[in-house]
Amino acid sequence: KAIDPDQREFHQAVHEVVESLAPFLLDNPKYLKLKILERLVEPERVVHFRVPWVDDRGNIQVNRGFRIEMNSAIGPYKGGLRFHPTVNLSILKFLAFEQVFKNSLTSLPMGGGKGGSDFDPKNKSDMEVMRFCQSFMSELFRHIGPNSDVPAGDIGVGGREIGFLFGQYKRLRNEFTGVLTGKGIEWGGSLIRPEATGYGTVYFAQEMMRMKGEELAGKVVSISGSGNVAQFAAQKVLQLGGKVVTMSDSSGFIHDPEGIDEEKLAYIFELKNEQRGRIKEYAEKYGCPYFAGQRPWSVPCDVALPCAIENELHEDDAVSLLKNGCQLVAEGANMPCTPEAVHQFLKARILYAPGKAANAGGVAVSGLEMAQNSMRLNWTRDEVDGRLHTIMKTIHEMCVRHGVEKNGWVNYVDGANIGGFVKVAQAMIAQGLV
Ligand code: NDP
Repeated sequence: KAIDPDQREFHQAVHEVVESLAPFLLDNPKYLKLKILERLVEPERVVHFRVPWVDDRGNIQVNRGFRIEMNSAIGPYKGGLRFHPTVNLSILKFLAFEQVFKNSLTSLPMGGGKGGSDFDPKNKSDMEVMRFCQSFMSELFRHIGPNSDVPAGDIGVGGREIGFLFGQYKRLRNEFTGVLTGKGIEWGGSLIRPEATGYGTVYFAQEMMRMKGEELAGKVVSISGSGNVAQFAAQKVLQLGGKVVTMSDSSGFIHDPEGIDEEKLAYIFELKNEQRGRIKEYAEKYGCPYFAGQRPWSVPCDVALPCAIENELHEDDAVSLLKNGCQLVAEGANMPCTPEAVHQFLKARILYAPGKAANAGGVAVSGLEMAQNSMRLNWTRDEVDGRLHTIMKTIHEMCVRHGVEKNGWVNYVDGANIGGFVKVAQAMIAQGLV
């Protein structure tokens, strides 16, 4: 921590991984001797650049742009771009570090990266977002490519932003390649990509539930967030017969004890994706309670799916979930549970899966989008969904293998960290000291 002491989130992510890898490394000293961990925590390359753009009033605005190229041992750098005012080097390095393990777990050939900007797309016009994206790509284009670094979306970067970024890349390079994933379906995107992270998280949660000999059907599920991941996690829970009782945004959460059914969920899709409105409007429309400035973890549930942002589920939230009988937590977001919250879950021996395993479905389908782009063909919805489902089951099996199952309980933290680590470490050793 003497190095870059201000990088709190990055240290948090590394600490969690090192803590769980330590016994494994002591049993396998070759990784220590070859300093694999020391090499893993140092990005291969960090690009930091200025993003100047002009707002609708004609004023000049300046934001910061970043791309962290963390590790390319098993494939081109792969990971999303985040546009959010909280973006800084620490957050992006934590996300890039996690991405290395996650991408390894998918079994697809993808290294780890992450990028973004402190630009806030909220309350910006489409033209402002376009001008920002064009300026951002005017620098980023020289650092990425379909065989070197393939960015995707993340918080604040959805289909609209990927479109503007792709358009500018194409114009600068004069080539139509799969340099970004999350593209529109008419121009190289993959079916099921928008759904993939949320669906994958729920497929994974279903496998976890089966460790207890139970199913998600009939379970009460609490979800945080109401963005891409949260929306499709909710949709898959409904399809599997579960009942979703909460959703949230950064202003507060709604609690619908009747359950958010398909019709109400369609309204949330419309509210969030078309109107870019607030979750509070759901409470006004359907007459259910809304809790301003709060997170949904005080609501009794069987399953919790945090799908909003890092460090959104604290120790007191974990205690409250456990007190109310929650049996399973699967992270749709990246590192939404603080280390203290994770400690509570592990101590209580409920089933808890970290994001690098549970939310790997998004990047897995991004990998499938790259494969389709390379072959210049499109798979059907069922084909992609089937592959996603198989990948999530395989990641689950890997976690069970390395997380040592005992009487239906698995340490998914150890499982995901060791499972993700081994493949990358072996590739780094094979490729020499680079
Ligand atoms: P979106 O931008 O679509 O949605 C983010 C959601 O989180 C919004 O509802 C947002 O509310 C809410 N949120 C943001 N900040 C806070 C806060 N401080 N407190 C509470 N809620 C907040 O992003 P995604 O759904 O794509 O991403 C969500 C999480 O999933 C992130 O951690 C991301 O890294 C992770 N992830 C995403 C993948 C993907 O494929 N999209 C893949 C793997 C992981 P508001 O509208 O008020 O900002």
